[in-house]
Amino acid sequence: MKRARLLTAAGIAGTGALAAAIGARIVRKRRAARQAICTDLHAPDECAAIHRRKVERIAAQLRSHDGSRPVSLRKKAPPHQVPKGGDLRRRDGKIDISDLTQIVTIDPIARTCTAESGVTFVDLVAATLRYGLVPIVVPELKTITIGGAVSGCSIESMSYRYGGFHDTCLAYEVVTANGEVLHCTPDNEHALVFQMVHGSFGTLGILTKLTFQLVPAAPFVRVEYETYRSVLEYQAAIRKHYEMQDVDFMDGILHTPNKLVLCVGRFVEKAPYTSKYDWTKVYYQSTGTRTEDYLTTPDYFFRYDRGVTNVHPRSFVGRLLFGKLMDSGTTLRLADKLNFLFKSDRPTVILDVFLPFSKVGAFLDWYQREVGHFPLWAVPYKRVRDYEWLDESFYAGMQDTLFLDIAIYGMEQPEGKNIHRMIEEKLRELGGIKTLISHNYYSKDEFWSIWNKRNYDQVKAITDPRNVFRDLYSKTCRAAMGLPG
Ligand SMILES: Cc1cc2nc3c(=O)[nH]c(=O)nc-3n(C[C@H](O)[C@H](O)[C@H](O)COP(=O)(O)OP(=O)(O)OC[C@H]3O[C@@H](n4cnc5c(N)ncnc54)[C@H](O)[C@@H]3O)c2cc1C
Repeated sequence: MKRARLLTAAGIAGTGALAAAIGARIVRKRRAARQAICTDLHAPDECAAIHRRKVERIAAQLRSHDGSRPVSLRKKAPPHQVPKGGDLRRRDGKIDISDLTQIVTIDPIARTCTAESGVTFVDLVAATLRYGLVPIVVPELKTITIGGAVSGCSIESMSYRYGGFHDTCLAYEVVTANGEVLHCTPDNEHALVFQMVHGSFGTLGILTKLTFQLVPAAPFVRVEYETYRSVLEYQAAIRKHYEMQDVDFMDGILHTPNKLVLCVGRFVEKAPYTSKYDWTKVYYQSTGTRTEDYLTTPDYFFRYDRGVTNVHPRSFVGRLLFGKLMDSGTTLRLADKLNFLFKSDRPTVILDVFLPFSKVGAFLDWYQREVGHFPLWAVPYKRVRDYEWLDESFYAGMQDTLFLDIAIYGMEQPEGKNIHRMIEEKLRELGGIKTLISHNYYSKDEFWSIWNKRNYDQVKAITDPRNVFRDLYSKTCRAAMGLPG
């Protein structure tokens, strides 16, 4: 009997081990396929033909769409927008772009990469690092796609030097609502389409392929943590590094109103040790207790993948048990599925605001008095160009060449206050702007006094005259909020 039980246990353990080995092998194979570069496997013409067939399939879907209801995208990677209960976009027709996941080619001499829009940053970094190169401005959540980073928004610790990921792009392939394929660059006949696709949230066409710049990278990043006691000191330190351009990376955590940490990083060839923050340890907390740290370059890029300042699971025990499983992709996929659980009357605040550097002090004074949620994430962002998607009045008279992105993640709203709306109004007053991935309460007129309606309509007339993608206001401020119109 005992022998039979032992044999059964051994059998189960063996089957389990075998299943795990097969599972791991499948995961490795899939990852290798996602991180493969087409021109390493096929002739360039063949890669172009493979991609063209995918684009033709998408264009055919659009051409056959009867226009009876708006359309949204079905991507392979999870969406990285704040999940909202009652989001009308869930009822949209779906254009399937889930096979646009191929890295087409990498040119290590020209330091450029061409890839399909559904490629995620975690796969892209793994592929480009094989050439000692990385994309510029890598958003910190692994499964954000390059198409979403352009159509939505993108910022990270290289932004103090380069602006957003879209500012490093050289060309876009855009499929219009009529199934036309446009090749857009900053200086060809589709230059305005090129500029307006950024932040258009899929309402000005479908991005199918992008070409963008790469920069040299070392295998490790050394990060130093500078702690300041006041906003003035903090801003002076940011300005010093900005003017000296003496670091590869700069972001920060405002732990409390008078514990402000600036995280400055440099690529290094060697590291005496490396830290990982993908299980029980929480990266943002480490910035408040350490003076330096070493991470591998991929681990540095995705140091916040478990969440920036609102890490999930919150408790140590929760992370010990589930931390390894709960990467951002899994969390957001789950949140998207369970969207009906998300309160719509007092949603949790997950919000990024962009402030001209000279207005940061005034904003934080007000913020501390009226909102007071800490910790905050801060990312300096270079004013690379005056974006065509913003109304000219936004830049009129602005001297600042630097912005500061301040991210409020995971704040529970107190009774009787609408923090999102309060911040929208304060930003109007101070000449700042917020990202549209969260909860938006703008009126139509107010919205189009900030976003550039003339440029938007000019491009919309070319790429979506039947308005099957919805317009930017309707999609981000109405449908996303469960409101018609
Ligand atoms: C919790 C959280 C934290 C975040 N932190 C950061 C951060 O630190 N840094 C940062 O840069 N961003 C951050 N984001 C924002 C995120 O990068 C943007 O929302 C980005 O747009 C998401 O890209 P995605 O690939 O997941 O696209 P999705 O979220 O699926 O789509 C975003 C929008 O782009 C459109 N879109 C997507 N792909 C295409 C395409 N191929 N063609 C046309 N339109 C398309 C979609 O229709 C949608 O309107 C965060 C978001 C969340 C929810």
